[in-house]
Amino acid sequence: MRLGNVEYFIVSDGEWRMDGGAIFGVVPKVLWETIVPADELNRVPMALNCLLILSQGKRILVDTGFGRKVPDKRADQLALQREDGDLLDGLERLGYGPEEIDIVINTHLHSDHCGGNTLDRAGTPEPAFPRAEYWIQRVEWAEACYPNERTQKTYLPENFRPLESAGQLRLLYGDTRVTAEVRCIVSKGHSRGHQSVIIESDGKTAIYLGDLAGRAVHLEHLAWTTAFDSEPFETIESKRAIRDWAMERDSLLFFGHDIRVPSGRLFRSEDRLLVQASQKHHGSAAQMQTSRA
Ligand SMILES: [Zn+2]
Repeated sequence: MRLGNVEYFIVSDGEWRMDGGAIFGVVPKVLWETIVPADELNRVPMALNCLLILSQGKRILVDTGFGRKVPDKRADQLALQREDGDLLDGLERLGYGPEEIDIVINTHLHSDHCGGNTLDRAGTPEPAFPRAEYWIQRVEWAEACYPNERTQKTYLPENFRPLESAGQLRLLYGDTRVTAEVRCIVSKGHSRGHQSVIIESDGKTAIYLGDLAGRAVHLEHLAWTTAFDSEPFETIESKRAIRDWAMERDSLLFFGHDIRVPSGRLFRSEDRLLVQASQKHHGSAAQMQTSRA
């Protein structure tokens, strides 16, 4: 897929399931279950959409899913499925080996976004992308290295500590340019050091939102934040600003956890902003669907 002079690919690390209450926070189930039906264990399906960006000679990977270190018991709990392979398989199919990735950007360090940062090759986790520099906000790094009782289950040191010892860590002190076409912006709320990634080329724009809005419906409803958000009111303000920014530019939007709407664009319907899914990336029919379907 192409945006101006930038090529990009959504690459999946698989699908999993998560408690619907955790994903929709204070929103009553009667409201969200018509949009995202839950299974008998109250779990909703989750995508693990990572993004490969090719810009000005750089191969940039945004987020790395759960990766290959997930123990079997944990994979069962997560109902982790990888019928089409994982992130590394997906990159391989596109023709990119791990050594060809130049930069890995983590939106944040929760385990579903950075587990694939490292691989357990010989009993010790080491960087999965041996040549890459890993770009992480300093605030996120600090929160992850010194978690509290609530965050310690998702900030798993084996997913990020080895980057530092391998000399492949680059801490970011706020908004940072990656190439002339790609930049990181702080979009806090889900976590204090959360960042999103913007592509701008030839008058076109796109943004990978991370867990600022993991699903299209989270961007449509500013008040819908996950129960994991450390600062939900900040999430709302980050979403408000970025949604206005995206609407003005007709920006393409990437949703990391949305199976039905991996990418889309905003449109106005009466007094509301809704997301129209992009054409399916695969398959014959140019089938359009919206998150309301
Ligand atoms: Zn997530």
